[in-house]
Amino acid sequence: MTESLTARVALVTGASRGIGRAIALALARAGADVAVNYLEREADAQATAGQIRALGRRAEAFQADVSRTVEVAGLVEQVGHQFGRIDILVNNAGIALRRGLDELTEDDFDRTLLVNLKSAFLCTQAVFPGMRERAWGRIINISSGAARGAGVVGAHYNASKAGMEGLTRGYAARLARDGVTVNAVAPSLIETDMTGPLRAENAARIPVGRMGTGDEVAMAVVMVAGNGYMTGQTVQVNGGLHFN
Ligand code: NAP
Repeated sequence: MTESLTARVALVTGASRGIGRAIALALARAGADVAVNYLEREADAQATAGQIRALGRRAEAFQADVSRTVEVAGLVEQVGHQFGRIDILVNNAGIALRRGLDELTEDDFDRTLLVNLKSAFLCTQAVFPGMRERAWGRIINISSGAARGAGVVGAHYNASKAGMEGLTRGYAARLARDGVTVNAVAPSLIETDMTGPLRAENAARIPVGRMGTGDEVAMAVVMVAGNGYMTGQTVQVNGGLHFN
């Protein structure tokens, strides 16, 4: 039922590990070639790319800090040079600096907004003109249940993810006629390095009785990438934690 992603080219930011790696692999299984972005963990990124090539798809690892304009420009240029174009952009790279209100600093706030929100703006601005020209594109922003709920990280993280959902709707409205859909996938409490310290305290309060997996988030991303009629939406993947 979903559109085939065969021969599509995807760029997944923060795909060296965690949810991003699961998304990169799932897109490859759905037929896409994948550019694997990472910040520091080159060996992990190369391992993701190797797993994708073992599936018979093209993959390369690309180092770039996606919160920095110059590095995003270089990343998109390099991917374009090696793969020809970018059809699917998954803005997944993110950080979760866990802070109580009394310890939250301006620097924490700025860093979080740069990495979680401005990065999505920079990557989207860099790729949408090509998508619009080819009249096909999928942009998928990895938000969080914290965009709408209390979350467990802090108010700065809530703000970054709520901003990402506003960005999603703003671009969706302006690109719908150009064959480009823009949606968000909002996970909560997925087992990754990011949530390592939170597992014991949180698993018990999730209605399905466990934390989620990166693969379960990736399934939602592939579904969104294969649907040309769905845009401006947020898909929650949260084990029943909340229903809004
Ligand atoms: P993770 O395991 O900590 O992985 C983070 C990834 O982002 C890594 O690949 C890291 O690269 C990359 N990254 C960080 N800063 C970057 C930057 N400035 N430029 C490029 N790449 C950067 O996190 P995760 O749990 O998979 O989370 C992935 C996304 O899902 C994040 O946006 C997060 O906010 C969101 N999310 C996660 C959960 C959850 O429960 N885990 C819930 C809701 C939303 P290196 O490996 O090179 O450091």
